[in-house]
Amino acid sequence: MPLHRVFTYSVPSEGQLRPELGLRVRVPFGKRNLIGFVVAVHAERPADLDIDPKKVRPAIEFLDDEPLITPEILRLTEWTADYYASFWGETLKAALPAGMNSEKVRPKRRKAVRLLDPELADNSKALTTAQSSVVETLNKAGGEMLWTDLLDAANVGASPINTLVKRRFLEVFVQDIHRDPLSAEKLPERPQIALTEHQKSALGQITDSIDESEFKAFLLHGVTGSGKTEVYFRAIRHTIAMGRSALMLVPEIALTPVFSRQLRAAFGPTVAILHSGLSQGERFDEWRRIRAGEARVAIGTRSAVFAPLKDLGLVIVDEEHDPAYRQWESPFYNARDVAVMRANFAGAVAVLGSATPAMESFHNAKHGKYTLLSMPERIGGRNLASAELVDMRDVFKREGKDVALSRELLEAIAETASKGEQIIVLMNRRGFAQFVLCRSCGETIKCENCDITLTFHRRDGRLTCHYCGYGVPAPRSCPKCESEFLYFVGEGTENLADQLEKKFPSLKIERIDRDSITRKGELEQKLLDFAEGRIDMLVGTQMIAKGHDFPNVTLVGVVGVDIGLGLPDLRSAERTFQMITQVAGRSGRGEKPGRVVIQTYHPDHYALQRAMAQDYEGFYADELKFRENFRYPPFVALASIMVRHRELSRAKGIANALRRHLDPANPSKTVRIVGPASASIARLKNEYRMQMILRSESRRELRKVLDIGLSQAEEHGVEMRFVFVEIDPVSLM
Ligand code: ADP
Ligand code: ZN
Ligand code: ZN
Repeated sequence: MPLHRVFTYSVPSEGQLRPELGLRVRVPFGKRNLIGFVVAVHAERPADLDIDPKKVRPAIEFLDDEPLITPEILRLTEWTADYYASFWGETLKAALPAGMNSEKVRPKRRKAVRLLDPELADNSKALTTAQSSVVETLNKAGGEMLWTDLLDAANVGASPINTLVKRRFLEVFVQDIHRDPLSAEKLPERPQIALTEHQKSALGQITDSIDESEFKAFLLHGVTGSGKTEVYFRAIRHTIAMGRSALMLVPEIALTPVFSRQLRAAFGPTVAILHSGLSQGERFDEWRRIRAGEARVAIGTRSAVFAPLKDLGLVIVDEEHDPAYRQWESPFYNARDVAVMRANFAGAVAVLGSATPAMESFHNAKHGKYTLLSMPERIGGRNLASAELVDMRDVFKREGKDVALSRELLEAIAETASKGEQIIVLMNRRGFAQFVLCRSCGETIKCENCDITLTFHRRDGRLTCHYCGYGVPAPRSCPKCESEFLYFVGEGTENLADQLEKKFPSLKIERIDRDSITRKGELEQKLLDFAEGRIDMLVGTQMIAKGHDFPNVTLVGVVGVDIGLGLPDLRSAERTFQMITQVAGRSGRGEKPGRVVIQTYHPDHYALQRAMAQDYEGFYADELKFRENFRYPPFVALASIMVRHRELSRAKGIANALRRHLDPANPSKTVRIVGPASASIARLKNEYRMQMILRSESRRELRKVLDIGLSQAEEHGVEMRFVFVEIDPVSLM
C-alpha cells in the first residue's frame, strides 16, 4: 500500500506459525486480506504500539517455508524506499522477481529413485532381467534418477522397480527439480589470456580491496574494447576463492545471455541468472539457489540488485551509465546507486564499469567518492575507429531534397562490403515513417491516449504509438478533411532497412529492433548469425549498439542522431555522446581498422565533435559547463514531481495544491521550485501530466522541503495517489 508506516499483527504463540524477518504473511487489512512482509518480530507487545492491544488482529498465514528476503535485503529496501521517497512495501515488492509477489510459489518436485546398495549389481543373480536392467541403469547414472527417466532409460515398466523397492534394494524419494535457464545452452570456451598492464593494475586494486573486506567503490573507465569483461571475471574468481559471493548487473536482458554463458563456462553451476525473460519457475529456482547459498555468483538486470546473496564481496555494474538501470515506474530507483549502497552495507567492493561513465559517476570519481581506474587503450593496441561527419545540410543542397542516406555513407558501405567486411547501421527510431501529415489541412495523426504522433509501420500497415501501444490501421485519407494527399514524413529502421536492401540487393541485411524481434531467442540468433558471418549488415536501434564483440565489423553508420540531440531533456547531449561512442566501439574490434560515418544536421555540436574524437574527458568538461549554467546535477540535487490524472483540470488542481504546500516548507528559498507546468509529453497513456521540478545545492534541504510539503499536502486531503515523486530523475520528459 502507498503508506509510510508499518502495521502490527499478533501471531498465536502455539501452532505452526513462526514469524521470521522477511517472510511473507497474509493479514486482514480493513475488510480485505493482503500480503505483507515481516519487518520486525516482537517477543512481547511493543511499548510504542499505537493502538489498543485488544485491537491487534491476528495474522492469517505465512506464505513461504523460508523468507525470500534476507535481513540484509530488508535493510536495503528500507534505505531505497527512504532515499527515493517511495514506499517500503512497494520497494519490497520490486525487490522480488516478478511473479513471486502475489501467491505461493513452490519448488518443482519429482518422484525419484535411489539405489540403496551399490554392490547389488555385482551379485545380481537373484534378479530378473528387467530388475537387473533397472539396477544397471541406476548404477551408470551414479545411483539416483528421476522415476520417469529411469523407466525410459531401463526400458521397463513400474513393476520391477516396485519389487526392488519392496525388497529394500531401492528407495523412492522426492527430488527438487532445478529449472535451469542455461540447461540447453552451448557454453563457450574461455581462451587463456595474459592480462595487459592496465588490466593488471585495475584488477590488483580491486582484489586488494576485496581482501580488506571493507566497502570501496571503483569507477572502471575503460574505452570500448579495453578488456573490462576480463577484469570483471577475474575479480569474481578472486571473490569466490575467498569464500564470498559476487553480483554482476547488466543493463539489458539482451546482454545477459552473452555474459551468463561466459560466466557459466568459467564458474559452473554456482552461477545463477535473474531477469524478466525467464519463466516464473526458472526465476524462483534461481532465487532459491542464491538464497540457499548454492549459487554464489548472480548475474541479472536491474532488480537483481536485490538478489539474496550471502557474504557479498563484490558488486559489478557493467555499462553503469545505462538508463535501463533506472526503474520507470514507482519506486523510481536507480539500480546502479542501490548497488553501491548494497556494497556499502555488506562491506563489499563495488565496481562501476563504462566507456562513457554517467556525468555523476565521473564527478564522484573526480571528487574522491569513487576510485578511478582507467583503461585508456584497446586490447592489442588497436586504434579506435576513425570517424567522419557528414553534414546533411550540404547533402540537402546537393540533392535538392531530404534523403535518408548520403552518398558518403552509401559509398562507405559499398567499399566495406566489397572487402567482405561487415556493417552496422544505427538509427534510433523504429517504424517506417515517423508520422503522417495531411498535405491539405496540415493535420498530423496523433495517439488517442498520448500527446504523441503515431508512427507508420508498413509491414503490418498500421499506425502505432511507441509510448502506449495504441494502434490503428493506416488510413487512406485524412481523418479530418478526407483529403487523399497523405504524406509520410521521416524515416525509421523499417524504412532504412528497405532502402538499403534496394541499394544493395546482393547483401544479406537484417533489422534488429523491438518490432523485428518478437520471439524469444530471435535476437540472440540474429546476433549469432551476424557474429558468424551469415549476415552482412545489421540495421537497428540501440539494441545493436551495446556490448557485442564482432571482430569483422569495420563500418558503423549512424543515421538520425539529430532526433536524440533535439530532445528537450537534460541528458540528451550525454545520451547522444554515449550512444555514438558505444556504437563506434563496435567498429574495428578485430585486426582490421574501423570506420564510423555519422550523418547530422548539427556537425558542430560538442557531443558529436567529442564523440568523433572519442574524447570522454573533453565531453565531460563541455557538458559540465552546460550542467552548471542550467543548474543541473552534479551541481544540484534534483527532484521531479509529476501529477498524472485523466482529467486535465484535476491534474492542474492537484499540482497547484502541492505547490501551495511546498512553498511554506521552503521559507528561506534554499530549494528552487519550477512549475507546475505541462510536462514535455503533456499527455501519456490517457493521463495528463503536470510537472514541478525542484533543485537545491543541498540534498538535505531538498528532502526536507519535499517531506514537509508532501505530508502537509496529504494531511490537507490532496490525493497523493496521483502524485509521483522522482529523486535524481534521469530524464525530465
Ligand atoms: P570491453 O568490455 O572493455 O569493451 P571486452 O572485454 O569485450 O572489452 O574485450 C575485447 C576483446 O579483447 C574480447 O574479445 C576479449 O576476449 C579480448 N581480451 C580481453 N583482454 C585481453 C587480453 N589481456 N589479451 C588478449 N585479448 C583480450
Ligand atoms: Zn487533412
Ligand atoms: Zn499512446
